[in-house]
Amino acid sequence: MKVVIIGSGPAGVVAAEALRARDRSLELAMITQEPYPPYSPPAMADHFLNGRDEPLFWRGRDVCERLAVDYHPSSRVTSVDAAGHRVLLDGAPALAWDRLLVASGSRLHAPVENAELPGVHDFKSLAAAEEIVSRVRRGEARSAVIVGAGFIGMEIALLLADLGVRVAIIGRRGWVMPRMLDTETAEIAGRAMTARGVELRLGVEALGFAERDGRAAGVRMASGELATADLYVAATGVKPNVSFLAGSGIEAAWGITVDDHLRTTVPDVWAAGDAVEAADRATGERYVHAIFPNAVDQARVVAANMLGGDVTYAGAESMNSLKHLGLPIMAVGALAGALVAALAGALAGEGSERPCSSASCAAKPGAMCFGW
Ligand SMILES: Cc1cc2nc3c(=O)[nH]c(=O)nc-3n(C[C@H](O)[C@H](O)[C@H](O)COP(=O)(O)OP(=O)(O)OC[C@H]3O[C@@H](n4cnc5c(N)ncnc54)[C@H](O)[C@@H]3O)c2cc1C
Repeated sequence: MKVVIIGSGPAGVVAAEALRARDRSLELAMITQEPYPPYSPPAMADHFLNGRDEPLFWRGRDVCERLAVDYHPSSRVTSVDAAGHRVLLDGAPALAWDRLLVASGSRLHAPVENAELPGVHDFKSLAAAEEIVSRVRRGEARSAVIVGAGFIGMEIALLLADLGVRVAIIGRRGWVMPRMLDTETAEIAGRAMTARGVELRLGVEALGFAERDGRAAGVRMASGELATADLYVAATGVKPNVSFLAGSGIEAAWGITVDDHLRTTVPDVWAAGDAVEAADRATGERYVHAIFPNAVDQARVVAANMLGGDVTYAGAESMNSLKHLGLPIMAVGALAGALVAALAGALAGEGSERPCSSASCAAKPGAMCFGW
């Protein structure tokens, strides 16, 4: 039997490990549009600060060789032919499968004007992170404006500040990490950020990026002000990579639709990780829970079920921690009041939507935005 895995993120690589542990004779193939061995996105900031490879290539650079996985780096999936059991690739022969795992993760979601302009950076992949850091190391970027005061915006700000860049963060809410922290805890985190040299501009609405000569030339604020710097970074949220599934019958709303065994709407096709709209363990609400432990748990469930198991997914957790601030910050479960707000919304007939708080954001239901 041949299993093809789309994606070499935590979900893809853990699924490969679990499949190989169960069956030595399986044919396994893994496709990623990135040129690197499988890596851990949460370890990127640390990697650029201390140069250590081990946490980044967390399963070892040789993981695919060890697991006898036929690895296809720098290969982009353009579509899935579900009836023909084939994955179509950009500029390379199609790959046939008996079972397919879609673990295509997520990318930047930036519901602001001109976010696609050259010169607007993000930190969603190793290539994107390398582009930012190399601009800094070449001396091209001595100042930066980051749009988004959520968890990822904070992480990028700390990295850039440690690399000697003068950093300002623009956050729409009045406190940092609004999807993760209450105002009291955020106040402590905010003070620690300021002490690390990061300028916090909170309660300020960024409308988008100004353009000059086809490149980003500032962040336009609702107040009319233009914030300028050498480097612009968007850290406003993430959205699942699902566009290549169009026409395949594998249904996706915001994220891929799965049942409680993480099967998609097409037989022999499963999905796991940031690309999936899974049920919350506590509330049952379905949305994209884009965190590492959920991707790993889902991958293990998929691996068992692909090989004939009957494992029900217990549901995704809400948690996160910020490691680089020098303060032990960890948030688990619903933010105080969030559940009450959701219940009030349901009673008011708004269903179980978890709307992004941006009026211009199309990410509903199932949004995963950083409350930027
Ligand atoms: C900077 C940063 C810090 C983070 N910190 C934390 C943290 O501290 N704690 C935490 O729990 N989570 C953290 N996360 C989130 C965590 O990294 C993700 O939840 C996790 O990586 C999801 O794993 P995944 O395998 O589903 O997707 P991803 O890691 O997004 O991997 C997706 C894979 O799919 C491939 N792919 C996508 N589309 C295609 C295509 N069309 N063709 C071929 N390949 C494709 C990509 O190349 C990639 O290999 C962080 C994320 C970032 C970016």
